[in-house]
Amino acid sequence: MSWEEYVRKVVPYTPGEQPKIKNIIKLNTNENPYPPSPLVYKAYEETELSDFRKYPDPTCSVLVDSIASFYDVKKENVFVGVGSDDVLSMAFLTFFNSDKPVLFPDITYSFYDVWADLYRIPYKQMPLKDDFTIDPADYYGENGGVVIANPNAPTGVKLPLDAIEDIISHNRDVVVIIDEAYVDFGAESALPLIDKYDNLLVVRTYSKSRSLAGLRIGYAFGCEKLIKYILDAKFSFNSYTMNMPSLILGAAAMNDREYFEETTAKVVATRERVKVQLKELGFEFGDSRANFIFARHPEKAGKDIFDYLRAHDIIVRRFDKPRINEYLRISIGTDEEMDRLIEVLKEYLGK
Ligand SMILES: *Cc1c(COP(=O)(O)O)cnc(C)c1O
Repeated sequence: MSWEEYVRKVVPYTPGEQPKIKNIIKLNTNENPYPPSPLVYKAYEETELSDFRKYPDPTCSVLVDSIASFYDVKKENVFVGVGSDDVLSMAFLTFFNSDKPVLFPDITYSFYDVWADLYRIPYKQMPLKDDFTIDPADYYGENGGVVIANPNAPTGVKLPLDAIEDIISHNRDVVVIIDEAYVDFGAESALPLIDKYDNLLVVRTYSKSRSLAGLRIGYAFGCEKLIKYILDAKFSFNSYTMNMPSLILGAAAMNDREYFEETTAKVVATRERVKVQLKELGFEFGDSRANFIFARHPEKAGKDIFDYLRAHDIIVRRFDKPRINEYLRISIGTDEEMDRLIEVLKEYLGK
């Protein structure tokens, strides 16, 4: 017998590359191309480093209060974590404790099946339709919980709120998680439904629409009882998940509504412009409502385009998986970065 027999073996999630090379155009992990709010710079300058000798506030009140105030909910409706990955991981651990399978789409955020495997949660992947949309009826059957990313990743396709509500209302006996990592770029949030459905958890992140992927801040909304349960799990795991800079700078970013609205609008405008240009070059893609476009070219292999871009210092994301291996997920960068992308693609296609 070997100790290896008792190891909790897992196949880990593979995050997108963070290249060390400077001057690369990085369109592979959906970060925001714009810097954080000026209020974040100010709060950073005013931060007392000597305070770091102490533990941070385990209740995360400055951050929770700023989020509650921005979204006009009670602080008892808010949970925060180390990126939404941590929030989602805690939610899987807390809410998915059934023998029945948790349901999520076959093409979606590829961390869901990793957490399910890690925690030994049974799961079933429901195939998206050919146009990458979700059929809510696929989620009516008996299950141990449901997870839907809206807009979905890596497709960018959104599900209308009435379809989301339909899924929640057909699953009142389990927790339904709506992962809204990209909702600020053009989909309708399920947040208003938390008062109506006590089984709904809405998960958000600072990584995409608030330009702070490096700080690792995620948050979630749910009814008081749901939030109490996930807090109990979190406090049984690690009391001090959120470090002091994340609490202080995260609150500062949340307090700048104007900057948030301005930068997300800029990303959306660039996305819509790039859609037109990619279409002219023959690319095919759905109506992305996220800060990326998931596209393929009918005459070129995804891997070839990926390699050509990479050789020209542009890095995008490609998933070597069935149904989507010809697609490239292209994050929306600044206008200059996207101009360069289009220029290199034109060169590649001989146009
Ligand atoms: C980026 C992303 C996350 C994780 O975001 P972090 O807050 O950076 O951990 C979660 N869900 C989806 C669908 C994402 O694309």
